[in-house]
Formats: sequence, C-alpha cells, structure tokens
Amino acid sequence: MSKRTRAWIGLGSNLGDSRTILQQAWQGLGQEKAIILITLSSPYVTEPVGMESEHLFLNAIGILETSLTPESLLPLLQQVELGFGRNKKTGADGYQDRLLDLDILYYGDQVLSSSDLNLPHPHIADRLFVLAPLTEIDPDHSDPLTGKTAESMQHELLQRMKSGEIAFQEINRDIWF
Ligand code: ADP
Ligand code: MG
Repeated sequence: MSKRTRAWIGLGSNLGDSRTILQQAWQGLGQEKAIILITLSSPYVTEPVGMESEHLFLNAIGILETSLTPESLLPLLQQVELGFGRNKKTGADGYQDRLLDLDILYYGDQVLSSSDLNLPHPHIADRLFVLAPLTEIDPDHSDPLTGKTAESMQHELLQRMKSGEIAFQEINRDIWF
C-alpha cells in the first residue's frame, strides 16, 4: 500500500448554493480511491477578503489523507472546481466570484514553491476564513515554515485587526444541515 500524507484543504464559494456545493465537493473528494476524508470544519460565512464583491463567502477547511503527490492533488482539485461550473478565467486582479475554490493549505509539512503550487498556501496567516476553521478542527497544527500553531496564528491575526494594522474581517460560524 502506498504511503498516505495528510493534506489540509481550503474550500470556498460565493456564488450559487454554496452550502450544497461545499458539501458535495467534499463528499466527491471522498469518492476518490486515493483519498480518505478525515474531518470537515463547520462552514463559516465570511466577508470577501482581498476582493470587492457583494456576495458573501461560505468557507470551510477539511483534512484528508491521500496517496497522491501535491502535484497530482492540485489538478484533481481543479477538475472538481470545473465540475461545479467554475469558470477557468481569473479576474484582472487575480480574484473573482466563484462557485467553488479548492486550495491546498498544507500538504504534510512540505514547503515548496513552483509556478503553479506554493506550499504552505501563501496567505494563511492573513486570512481568518482559513485560521478560524483550522483552529476549530486542528488548533495545535504547526505551520512548517514558522512553527506557529493554528491557534496562535489566529490570535496574532485577531490582534493585528484589533490594533487597526489590517482591516477587520467579518466572520460567523454556521452549521451544516
Ligand atoms: P485563488 O485560490 O488564489 O483565489 P485560483 O483558485 O484561481 O485563485 O488559483 C490560482 C492559482 O493558484 C492556481 O492556478 C494554482 O496553480 C495556484 N496555486 C499555487 N499554490 C496553490 C495551492 N497551495 N493550492 C491551490 N492553488 C495553488
Ligand atoms: Mg484556488
């Protein structure tokens, strides 16, 4: 049997029936032979960060185990995005409304940067919509670059928001149904 590695996946949607899309995308990943689902966080209703949109996001993160390399997990996630009707085009500033966004946040403790894959995902420390669900399901997870736990990264981000260093990010934990 091939070796399995734990991967932390960010799920997001701000168009369509986001709740159903995220749940179905996650269950769909579980149908893959090379993937075992471990946990899915609660869904979080969040204000768009880094883009202008009137559509709120629904975000979650999930933990899975996979025998796929990160280089083959990424195209699989992109295929699932397309299956949910995501348009391939990216907006001029790089961000746009989307039916489904699946990102690899962490792949084991691997650190790599290539033209189409950066690990850990570059913006984790600045995004409460990643750190809140990560802290919910895996508070002691240690970032391979900094050694900081998810919980301490969330604490630091909240401090930066309180001090006014960065804009406040509205986020509300919800439930699946
Ligand atoms: P974003 O997720 O930043 O809003 P996209 O989903 O359109 O935007 O992704 C843009 C590109 O980011 C993808 O083509 C992919 O190659 C690249 N990318 C780099 N690192 C990662 C990662 N860890 N997870 C997902 N995509 C990544
Ligand atoms: Mg993405």
